[in-house]
This record gives sequence, structure tokens and C-alpha cells, in this order.
Amino acid sequence: MTGPAKLKFADSHCHIDMPQFDADREAVVARAREAGVERMLVVGGVDGEGGHQRAMRVARELGFPCSAGVHPHEARLYTDDIEDELRGLARDGLIVAIGEIGLDFHYDHSPRDVQREVFRRQLQLARDVELPVIIHTREADKETAAILEREEAEDVGGVIHCFTGDRELADRALILGFCISFSGIVAFPRAEVIQEVARTVPIERLLVETDAPFLAPPPHRGKRNEPAFVVEVARAVAKLRGEPLEDLSRSLLENFMRAFGLREV
Ligand SMILES: [Zn+2]
Ligand SMILES: [Zn+2]
Repeated sequence: MTGPAKLKFADSHCHIDMPQFDADREAVVARAREAGVERMLVVGGVDGEGGHQRAMRVARELGFPCSAGVHPHEARLYTDDIEDELRGLARDGLIVAIGEIGLDFHYDHSPRDVQREVFRRQLQLARDVELPVIIHTREADKETAAILEREEAEDVGGVIHCFTGDRELADRALILGFCISFSGIVAFPRAEVIQEVARTVPIERLLVETDAPFLAPPPHRGKRNEPAFVVEVARAVAKLRGEPLEDLSRSLLENFMRAFGLREV
């Protein structure tokens, strides 16, 4: 006898290439599959230490798509050589997006003017290589939206990842045709503004992610996050929206495939 059809999910943003998973990566992926998380995007950071090569190797071994880009934290490392390398990587079918890119004025690990310039250059690169972008923005929402608008990012499209902004950022991103991806933060107490956005984003623009190994959602808070937990994020979003998880999970998976130009295999 077979039980009810298992729900399927996609983790739109995880870092399972990171050393935190070196000891048990295959078990982590097996747990994800067991939970119905059959697809995930491995986000590769160009960090001057081969971060994106590591992400690509792990993604290839596990059969998942991958992205590559210079995180705003590492913007100070950006050079013409790195840009050329990214341009080359974009021709690899494994790479389905440029990112994560954007602005992070919380940590300010790179000077803000450098972050702005590197963000702009990578948006132009994405346009050249015809790939969508994955946007990281923290405490810089108005500037991030303004740069996306000025660079006409509606031509490339993409995702605002780990959404922690307000209604204005969501609206400006939606006008540009972007998807909004929610992480476990949506289920945290006192996340009312984010929850309000999660209630009202059009269903065809919704994504969920773990950002593993960071940001474990309740009830796993404080532990290492892993892709299997994206089911908890989807459950939280479904509850906020008053929609059955079955319906939402179908849309989330379709949106994931569409956002990154993936085909059903
Ligand atoms: Zn990020
Ligand atoms: Zn990330």
C-alpha cells in the first residue's frame, strides 16, 4: 500500500558546501530528501579562498544547481580577474544565477562605496551572461532597491534572499519582477513586519530557503541549520497565509524551477 503522495520542497538558498557540513554532508542531503526536499540551490561565494570552486564541486557531486558571486562582505576582493572568472563560470550549465550580491551595511565588512560599485558591476555582468541574480541586503534596503531600479534589474530578474525588509522593499522588488525568498526568520517571534509581507506576496513570487548552516528555524533554533528544515519555513508561511501546505509546496517548487530557469528532470 502506498501512503498519501509525499510533499516536495526546494531550498532556494543554502551553503551545504561550507566546512560545517564536511563531516556528514551525505547524511544531511539524505535527511533533506527524506523530508521531501529534493531540490536545492548551492550558493557559491567568491571569497578569495576558492569558495565558489568548492560550491561547484559539491553541487556537481550531489546533482544540484549552483550560483556564483561576490558577497557584499567580500566586495573589497573584487577585481577584473574575478569578474572574468565569473563570466567564464556563467557558461557552465551548473551555474544558474549570479549571487549572492548586494549590500550589507550591518557588518560593513567592505567599505560601502566598494559594495555599491561591486553590486552594480555584478548586475551588469548578470545582464551580459543572461542569468538571474540573488540579492543579499541588510540594513540597506532603500539603496538596494534604488540600485536595482537604476540598473533596470527587471531585465535579469531574480530573488531577494532571506527577506528581512519591509513592505516598501517587497513592493519595489515585486514591481521589478523579483521573487521574495523567506528564511526561518519569518517564524521568529517579533518578525511581524516580515510576516505581514509573507502573508501578501503573490503566491507565484514566493520562495523559501534555509540559508543553512545559518538561521535555523523554530523548533531547531540555535542548532546548525540544514536543508531538511526548509519544510518548517514552508509550514510557517502556509500558516501565515492560511493556505494548505499541499497547495503552497506545489507553488514553491514551481517558482523555484522558474526563478532559476530549471527544467523538470
Ligand atoms: Zn545572504
Ligand atoms: Zn547565503
